[in-house]
Amino acid sequence: METLKLQGLLDRIAAQMAAEPERGQVATYIPELAKIDPARFGIAVALASGEVLSAGDAAEAFSIQSISKVFTLAIALGRLGDQLWSRVGREPSGLAFNSILQLEQENGIPRNPFVNAGALAVTDAILQGHQPREILAELLRFIRLAADDDAIHINDAVARSEQATAHRNIALAEFMAAMGNLRNPSPLTIGTYVHQCAVEMSCRQLASAGRFLMGGKGSPRLVSPARMRRINALMMMCGHYDGSGEFAYQVGLPGKSGVGGGILAIAPNEASIAVWSPGLNHRGNSKLGTEAIEILAREMGWSVFD
Ligand code: GLU
Repeated sequence: METLKLQGLLDRIAAQMAAEPERGQVATYIPELAKIDPARFGIAVALASGEVLSAGDAAEAFSIQSISKVFTLAIALGRLGDQLWSRVGREPSGLAFNSILQLEQENGIPRNPFVNAGALAVTDAILQGHQPREILAELLRFIRLAADDDAIHINDAVARSEQATAHRNIALAEFMAAMGNLRNPSPLTIGTYVHQCAVEMSCRQLASAGRFLMGGKGSPRLVSPARMRRINALMMMCGHYDGSGEFAYQVGLPGKSGVGGGILAIAPNEASIAVWSPGLNHRGNSKLGTEAIEILAREMGWSVFD
């Protein structure tokens, strides 16, 4: 019965979002992403029971972009444990995803693992002593295991497209190198980073991959419960950049956005939610994706603040 109600709700949300005229702006600074049709909308919910419900374009693969930072963070914490926190902080930045301002003020230590500078530090940390292809293979192994789906892959055209226009990320990496917070030559770290961002998944695959952050019986144990709670805390405080407070206020769940228009959100013990709508709001987070998760969370009574 619950499942029927949820399926009806997802169908209603998809129909409402399909009719929405104001869809936000598709990211254009990565040329391949500029080609994506802003009319696309997909939503999927993976439940503790193992069922995955979805509506709209939920089987279509999209570029997960910064949502990949959740998976690399999980790998980095597994590899380095608390040592990682000497390279990157755990505070919200209140600034745009690609801002360089704080990096100079704070001696090359990025505020958190989800702003670009922080994600570069995390990728650099797991790259140390390895080849980029080994790290990317490990990332794909982790995501495929989490999603229970071996078809998940990296879109090379998207990676090359970002690489060709990665001036800001190169600036962030080089600044960190100057401050002694980059261990590999920056082209290696940037090359690995743009490929991790170019992982493609559908909403159904992403919702399934997020189950390891859900906790409870339906959650595959890829990280310890303590680490799972901490990754969720970082998603809550930092997952939407300078829109994180607004997302917490509107939705009330930990979430991570990407400039491809995807959002992964976690309703602890209940569900892993993935939504995709390529148009972004002025903070670089999916406009309709946020609205869709807000409706879903409200109607289902899912909040971490109950
Ligand atoms: N690959 C993107 C960048 O570095 C990720 C940003 C995002 O998804 O928010 O600009």
